[in-house]
Amino acid sequence: MSRPLPRRSFLAISALAAASPLLPRALRAAHSTTAAPPDAPLLAAEPFDLGAVRLTDGPVRDALEVNRRFLLALDPERLLHMFRVTAGLPSTAEPLGGWEAPENELRGHYTGHYLSACALLAAQTGDPQLRARGALLAAELGKCQAANGRGYLSAFPEELFDRLRAGQPAWAPFYTLHKIMAGLLDTHTLSGDPGALTTLTGMAGWIERWVEPLDDARMARVIEREYGGMNELLYNLAALTGEARWRALAQRFDRERIFAPLAAGRDELQGLHVNTTIPQIIGAARGFEVAGDPRLRAVAETFWHTVAERRCYCTGGTSNGESWNTPPGVLAHELSGYTEESCVTYNMQKLTRHLFCWTADARLADYYERTFYNGILGVQHPADGDKLYYLPLESGYWKLFGTPLKDFWCCTGSMSESFAKLGDSIYFHDADGVYVNLYVPSELDWAGRGVRFTQETRFPEEDTLRITVHAARPQRFALKVRIPYWTHGASATVNGRTLTTAPREGYLALERRWADGDVLTVRLPMRLHAAAMPDDASIQAVMYGPLVLAARLGSAGLSSANLRAGPTPPRKVPEYQGEPLPVAPIVVRSRDPSSWVRREPGGALEFRTVGHARALTLVPLNRVFDERYAVYFRVNEPTTST
Ligand SMILES: [Zn+2]
Repeated sequence: MSRPLPRRSFLAISALAAASPLLPRALRAAHSTTAAPPDAPLLAAEPFDLGAVRLTDGPVRDALEVNRRFLLALDPERLLHMFRVTAGLPSTAEPLGGWEAPENELRGHYTGHYLSACALLAAQTGDPQLRARGALLAAELGKCQAANGRGYLSAFPEELFDRLRAGQPAWAPFYTLHKIMAGLLDTHTLSGDPGALTTLTGMAGWIERWVEPLDDARMARVIEREYGGMNELLYNLAALTGEARWRALAQRFDRERIFAPLAAGRDELQGLHVNTTIPQIIGAARGFEVAGDPRLRAVAETFWHTVAERRCYCTGGTSNGESWNTPPGVLAHELSGYTEESCVTYNMQKLTRHLFCWTADARLADYYERTFYNGILGVQHPADGDKLYYLPLESGYWKLFGTPLKDFWCCTGSMSESFAKLGDSIYFHDADGVYVNLYVPSELDWAGRGVRFTQETRFPEEDTLRITVHAARPQRFALKVRIPYWTHGASATVNGRTLTTAPREGYLALERRWADGDVLTVRLPMRLHAAAMPDDASIQAVMYGPLVLAARLGSAGLSSANLRAGPTPPRKVPEYQGEPLPVAPIVVRSRDPSSWVRREPGGALEFRTVGHARALTLVPLNRVFDERYAVYFRVNEPTTST
């Protein structure tokens, strides 16, 4: 049953914090300046540069390629149009539609995402075309900034900020600026573009002057309006430049009203707009790394644990109608066609990555994997690369994709970035060795040690991965392969010899002298298991390994008119045309799904219900497109035995 949606008049939209990953080099730069305290945190694990990981043949690389085509099909002249108009520069390009249309107050945000996506994808693949595209856009934006004067750069005039200061309606001006600044930061850090940093610093200077006259009470009112991850971006700028002024400016965007209860260990998230909040928490995480304040770490950790463990669906996503509407652990009535905004998943992944770097805790990597398969991989349409806003989890709905050039939602932007960096959390490292967190066919170049690795796998169709070491000379280090929560009976061999100790949940850490050609093979048997609602065990989803399964319900009543959202007017989110299809409760003797679901023979990941009048076919949720589906089932165990 569909829960009535809240009126979307608020339409505070979702946000994406700066795309730049945790920047170990920038962190080290911060350590060497007066901007960083002596107790800046040490990392338990560090990410690799995106360029160190190359995806090889498989569905993950295919998804990256779909996004590459999607990005390259966009015309830079159109992405620049409203920036030029705002700066009084000539432009004859046709304006973009949706949230980028000339009358939309969020215009320009996608150009920022686009800069990030180009920089990320160029770093991930080495593609010179995307790097050149980013450089062109950054240079042209620099010209617009020069024409505006005083460092201002936006696709809308400063008047929106006047309204914000006066407490009058204005959608989210700092949110939009944050996306542009994050794009410039990524263009600088990932593509090495010096001009992008100059433009970015100019924008930060404009913000510094805008904020300076505001006392704390007025600033607190300003940051009640969604601002993306402005605090995170400015902490990153402080780390990159070593200038303490940017750290001070970042702190003015730390939202104390949200931070204070979290620092005290309390979940007071009910009623908040989800994706306004998460980028602010990423800012706290980054603030901890840059400024060393343990209170900010507590904010981030309390937040992560309560959201990931008590507010997420089986997919790892959170939010319903963009908000948290209930106390923690109360989700059974939070299913609708408007669950799990995609930006939210993007940002939860980003926050998880920070926490993983602090702790190297395999449970964080388990969560990341859950979102990777269920919240990311299935939200890009394989035909044209358009992206999903909400991932509906009420049974009988379908994925309502956008229409290329006509939406440019927040999620179009964050998913343009997500699908540009699919290789970024497969591997991490510390001084002792390499962590293998995701089972994705790929190659890793651990340049710091002169070792390369090849990961070969057909996961999740098959349950085995094979890692080959390539080294000019033997070296002692640890290979640490994540053993996920969902496997039972994992096993491993080194050069064909079975390990005497069975791997346990967490990490299988093999420290030895590894030589060229050594092969580690790990088998992670998958099984069916249930993911029940925390407050109602009779509502459950079926999982196979990390994959959420969805029952295919066909395409009755669906056509091109309601499979795609069509042009999105200003300040509107996509809305369904049509009703969900009800799914009858399933009555079974046991809530263990292996009693009522079977995997079909053969290599495909296809499953079928057994013992029911109407057989249902289940497949991974991330492979369902253009049809109705059901993820959660009401499973009623018979009350009496017969
Ligand atoms: Zn969004």
